[in-house]
Amino acid sequence: MRLQDASLLCSKCHIGGVWVEADGNGSFPVINKTTGDVICTVPNCGKSETDRAIASAAEAFKTWGAMTGKERGLVLHRWHALIHENIDDLALILTLEQGKPLAESRGEILLGCTYIDWFAEEGRRAYGEVIPSPWSGKQPLAIRQPIGVAAAITPWNFPNSMITRKAAPALAAGCPVIVKPASATPLSALALGVLAERAGFPAGVFSVITGNAREIGDALCQSPTVRALSFTGSTPVGKKLMAQCAQTMKKLSLELGGNAPFLVFEKGDVEDAVRSAVGCKFRNAGQTCICANRFLVEDAVHDEFVERLKTEVGRIILGDGTKTGVTQGPLIDGKAFAFMHELLQDATSKGATIVCGGKPSALGGNFFKPTIVTDVTRDMRLFQEEIFGPIAPIIRFSSEEEAIELANDTPYGLASYVFTRDLPQLWRVVTRLEYGLVGANEVALASGEVPFGGVKDSGLGREGGRQGLDEYLETKYILLGGL
Ligand code: ADP
Repeated sequence: MRLQDASLLCSKCHIGGVWVEADGNGSFPVINKTTGDVICTVPNCGKSETDRAIASAAEAFKTWGAMTGKERGLVLHRWHALIHENIDDLALILTLEQGKPLAESRGEILLGCTYIDWFAEEGRRAYGEVIPSPWSGKQPLAIRQPIGVAAAITPWNFPNSMITRKAAPALAAGCPVIVKPASATPLSALALGVLAERAGFPAGVFSVITGNAREIGDALCQSPTVRALSFTGSTPVGKKLMAQCAQTMKKLSLELGGNAPFLVFEKGDVEDAVRSAVGCKFRNAGQTCICANRFLVEDAVHDEFVERLKTEVGRIILGDGTKTGVTQGPLIDGKAFAFMHELLQDATSKGATIVCGGKPSALGGNFFKPTIVTDVTRDMRLFQEEIFGPIAPIIRFSSEEEAIELANDTPYGLASYVFTRDLPQLWRVVTRLEYGLVGANEVALASGEVPFGGVKDSGLGREGGRQGLDEYLETKYILLGGL
């Protein structure tokens, strides 16, 4: 397969409106996750390039931040249209560098577009307040203003939509953005940079910088000019960034790890739950932060659920994501692949049963067979840790109370799912789950319109929805006196 517009495969960084190589540290290769071939190289930037990106963003803020929401929205709408026009190329680049099937790449890009579309309009609605005065002759007001330069550090599992989800609200609010994509998947970010330039974002408003995560991260965190940092990635790195940002008191949005429970009650529609479970667990080979991590299934429907899930899982086709019909690609790297073995070894040594899968695929590379494990218990790593791979652990429960207690028994709190058609039960469970997101008889949760984010070790802040703009705005209180 070939790109229709070869200029979207970009091997330079976009800093301050200029396409550049690294100052001196050369470049690093981007690997095709299916074949292991090198696609191209990208600049290995560090502190000096990051400082330049920050300086140009600060300069750009003077004009971008002062424009109207409507004017900024027009540029965002053009970016949105260009992404749509180039979706085939963007999906191919995404699949090559990440490994997910083309249909999923397209789905991700369309999801990413919902954030641009939404915030292009939402930026026009950054309302303030006229506060009823407690004093005669004085009028309190609250206005909302862009916070300043924003930085986005993004992961490899959604190389496109995690960028638009952060950049769109920042840009709509009036904040220039510096994006540091994951080193495994920088090409989708650079392609978004090419289209952002074509859409007409002024120099310095949207920079993309690839390279050394620690050095770039340090420079972004230490800079007093960067006023907001949005990060999606692992909880340990999120905590480190939070500590680093304390020095400059930045506003933080952190979308971190999860350990999503997927509760199936006797009163649920098991067939529907199974259909949803397949997408929720095996999409992106299980490498999403809201993937079901633990299936908690009530005794009475446990065996039926396992049987039906096994049948559905048998239909998953592993292979090269650019080929028609393939529904699961490889894992991102050898480390992720080895981790699947570690988790399964731990579980089986403690009494778990592998129902299907459990081993590498004959395709070789980092392809891992979709796996179902039963007899999973709390002491197993499969219960406690974020799997980030195609393993579905199943745990039995026998009462609603036990299910809720098991579901909440984790430091994480991102996504959760409940399947029951008993409305009072659904409401009881939904309100007691300690999670930022609950899918109630539903698993496809994300879109520009809704507030996405976690609690506890899963992070801070909300992306999307009316709330998403708040991450990039400060409230200024003004008291008009002498009236
Ligand atoms: P994952 O690899 O599971 O996506 P990480 O948290 O390791 O999770 O990585 C997410 C993003 O954070 C990537 O862009 C990565 O390059 C970046 N990153 C990793 N370590 C650091 C760090 N010390 N400082 C700043 N960014 C980092």
